[in-house]
Formats: sequence, structure tokens, C-alpha cells
Amino acid sequence: MKIFKNKKTLIKKLNGDQNLSFIPTMGALHKGHLSLIKKAKKKRFKTLVSVFINPKQFERKQDFKRYPKNLRKDIQILKKEKIDYLFIPKFKDIFSFKCQNKVFLSNFSNKLCGKFRTGHFKGVLEVVSRFLEIIKPKYIYLGVKDFQQLVLISEHIKKRRLKTKVISCKTIREKNGLAISSRNKLLKTNEKKIAIKTINFLKNRKKKIVLKDINSITNRLLNFGVTKIDYIKIMDIKKLKYENKVKKNCNIFIAFSVNKIRLIDNF
Ligand code: AMP
Repeated sequence: MKIFKNKKTLIKKLNGDQNLSFIPTMGALHKGHLSLIKKAKKKRFKTLVSVFINPKQFERKQDFKRYPKNLRKDIQILKKEKIDYLFIPKFKDIFSFKCQNKVFLSNFSNKLCGKFRTGHFKGVLEVVSRFLEIIKPKYIYLGVKDFQQLVLISEHIKKRRLKTKVISCKTIREKNGLAISSRNKLLKTNEKKIAIKTINFLKNRKKKIVLKDINSITNRLLNFGVTKIDYIKIMDIKKLKYENKVKKNCNIFIAFSVNKIRLIDNF
């Protein structure tokens, strides 16, 4: 595994090789990230993982500061996975050049998390579009756990006619049902129990949930100890439209906080 800490050396090494599978991450790697890497490795293209905590996608400095970090362990994990390239850029590597493609942010960015995290998706797209310009990968691997991010990146790629193909990857969960997330590491034992209870409550009722029940469900979850619920929505994942009940192609989307740890999921 070759490690690149700046853009120049990476570009030199890649030398225009576009047969690359790219897996962008913010580090603190876990089994969710590994599933993306393992899927990419099956393709027999060179795998490039990035670890970059993008400050532009955090609305609050505090949130950015306390985001879990463990670069030494990340490097060990990635070496074991035998990925080809690890890119750990600095802020200026990503943001100091003039981008060829303006970020395209579709109206879908105003739904779900977009309503609650001002500037978040713009920040995500700014960094991903720059990564795509530097690396020009054949494939980019993205998790369905961050469904809205996956859709917005796909829409940007399509609109700007980039050649990169998006490969969506299913959500990896702990045995208890909770989607694995770097942020789970910030939860205390009791807070984690509340998060698990919340997800399982919704998962078990998924098919029966209708719009008019959302208020009572919200109250129930607050009683479990959830501190805040940004939204619980039923959405058709093909049409990207909110629905009143769970029909074919519908998922439940939730964003909630336990103490100050904000979690998202969809199933
Ligand atoms: P992050 O480091 O949180 O920015 O995530 C990097 C990539 O891993 C994104 O495409 C996420 O959607 C994906 N990812 C995060 N958690 C999971 C999970 N539990 N299962 C599958 N993919 C995930």
C-alpha cells in the first residue's frame, strides 16, 4: 500500500491511470467502510481509499473537532486489506486549485438532512467533486446508509457528465440492528442502547407506519431517551418523493440525536 500525503505526488504516481476504484472516507474505519473496500477489490481495479475529514460539511466547529480520528489504526486496517493507494490530503491539497466543474446541487438537497444541516451537502459536494477531478476514478463506492449523499453525488456526476460510475453499497449493521457508524464510537453504553431501541422500534413496524402515526412514534422515541428527532419520513427511493405510507420502493428515513450525537439511518 502506497501512502500519499499530498496531491502532487499522487497525481504523479497515477500518471493518468483511470482504472481506479475510489472509496472516500472520513476515517475511523469500521466494518461499513470495509464492506465498500472489499466490494471494490473484487473488481480487480486498483483501489484508492481517501481519509479526509472535510471541515466544510460540518455546520459546527465543535462537531468537526470531536469527530472520531484514529489514523494509525486506519493505516493498519488498510494495509491488511491490501488496498493499493491511501490518500491523506491536507486541506490545501483539496481546496487550493480551481475546479473545472461547478458543484451541481439538485433540489433533493433541500429534503431530509438538507433541511436541518445548512451547507452540509454543498460541503460534501465541494470535496467529492474535487476528489473526482484529482483522481478521475472509474468507480466511486458509496454507502446507502448515507442515501441522500449518494443520490446527490450521483446527480452531480450525471449533470457534469463525468465518466465515474457510482457503485452503491448496502448498509452494514451490528448484530443488534444499529447501522455501523464512526459516530457510534461517541455514544456511551446507555446512549447506544437508546439508539438500538429506536432503530429496532421503527424496523419492526416499518410496513405498518403511516404518516399520521409519526407524531405518536416521535413521542414514543423521545420517551426511550432520544434527545431530538430531526425527521422521520417515508420516502420512495426511486421517485425521491415523500409518501404517506410504506409502499413498494419506500424506506423509512430517520435523523435523531442521543445526547448530542446525531445519527441517521434508512431501511
Ligand atoms: P464516512 O467515513 O462516514 O464519510 O463514510 C464513508 C463511506 O462509507 C460513505 O460512502 C458511507 O455511506 C459509507 N458507510 C458508512 N457507514 C456504513 C455502513 N454501516 N455500511 C455501509 N457503508 C457505510
